[in-house]
Amino acid sequence: MRVNQTEVIGLIVLGVIVVALVVGFVVSGSRRRSGTSAPTTPRTPPAASPGGSGERSSVAAPPTPGTTEVPSAVPDIAPAEPEALPAAPAAEEPEPVGGRLARLRGRLARSGSPFGARLLAVLSRDQIGEDDWDEIEEALLLADVGAGPSAEIVERLRTHARVNGLKDAAAVRANLRAALVEMLDPSLDRTLHIDPQIAPDGGPAPAVVLVVGVNGTGKTTTVGKLTRVLVAEDKDVLLGAADTFRAAAADQLSTWGARVGVETVRSEREGGDPASVAFDAVRRGRAEQVDVVLVDTAGRLQNKADLMDELGKIARVIAKEAPLSEVLLVLDATTGQNGLNQARVFAEVANVTGIVLTKLDGTARGGIVIAVQRELGVPVKLVGLGEGPDDLAPFDVEQFVDGILAEG
Ligand code: GDP
Repeated sequence: MRVNQTEVIGLIVLGVIVVALVVGFVVSGSRRRSGTSAPTTPRTPPAASPGGSGERSSVAAPPTPGTTEVPSAVPDIAPAEPEALPAAPAAEEPEPVGGRLARLRGRLARSGSPFGARLLAVLSRDQIGEDDWDEIEEALLLADVGAGPSAEIVERLRTHARVNGLKDAAAVRANLRAALVEMLDPSLDRTLHIDPQIAPDGGPAPAVVLVVGVNGTGKTTTVGKLTRVLVAEDKDVLLGAADTFRAAAADQLSTWGARVGVETVRSEREGGDPASVAFDAVRRGRAEQVDVVLVDTAGRLQNKADLMDELGKIARVIAKEAPLSEVLLVLDATTGQNGLNQARVFAEVANVTGIVLTKLDGTARGGIVIAVQRELGVPVKLVGLGEGPDDLAPFDVEQFVDGILAEG
């Protein structure tokens, strides 16, 4: 009898515990259903969000097209919930290379037109006289061809006219075309070197393109446009925001990248070390086996020694992980000879392998192409022909010269 009483008390206590557990579970379940408690797994933000790795630099991840993450710890939640998440914006499709070239060809040709109109006025005269030579030289100078090349071109035309007795405008014009083409040297290698490379340790490494130039010339925009060109060619790209002096510059770059599903390695804080961002970007690019790492830099020009230090350090740390494939110098076509002086400083401190001439749309100073190539001894590889995301074209000598000499 005593044993039975103990058993009954034990059963009652057990029953109370079971009831309490059941009630607790139901309350907690109904809370979760009504959404009042925080999910145990934080949701992945739908768009790029900088920061958070706790390292020197972090990666701004682009949105992943077509994926929505469901928190795994709450599988009993109504299946409709994933639809409530904001849909990740799909990455843009950059303009295919073929279409882009067809569209920009006309624009490249037109970019030199104001220059051409001026020359045309002289070249439409029946005979070219002494005053006309001066006028041709003036037109070349005003188009920023530069004093040396302008004088050389006119001297060549003059000699040709004297020797051959040809002074009619058509002959002079044909000769001028030949002189301009020759000065721009169509035989120069204008391809972008983005082949896979061998790292110093013998392993595979991505191509690394460093982009330098004065602020405001269009560096970041060019990196953004170039990213789109490479994505359109099915390349895997990673961006490095080594312009750490303005947070806005890194934001701008991440935005360009995110639009086409490309990640950006950036500093966690404004004023971080540009070289370590460049290094992290290249190391990460290696680890992820991307095809190309594009590194944007700051263009501060307060003095040559500082610039040399900064770019030198960036180049050295990158070289520990992968050889530099290209150093592109960005130059604003509208700044003329002044821009050229600044470009000269960059060319002295960095081993520039190619020039990107931006803002060639709508400037009458297309002749800067000739001056800059001459001065720096480096080919113009790409030209910016507008503010649109796909307004970047390979530089083509003959098309450009035909544009300069086009009628109106
Ligand atoms: P950064 O300081 O050198 O990085 O220069 P940004 O990339 O911020 O560009 C400065 C300005 O130039 C922006 O307003 C760009 O839209 C503009 N820009 C860049 N490239 C071109 C171009 O080819 N044509 C025109 N019209 N504007 C351009």
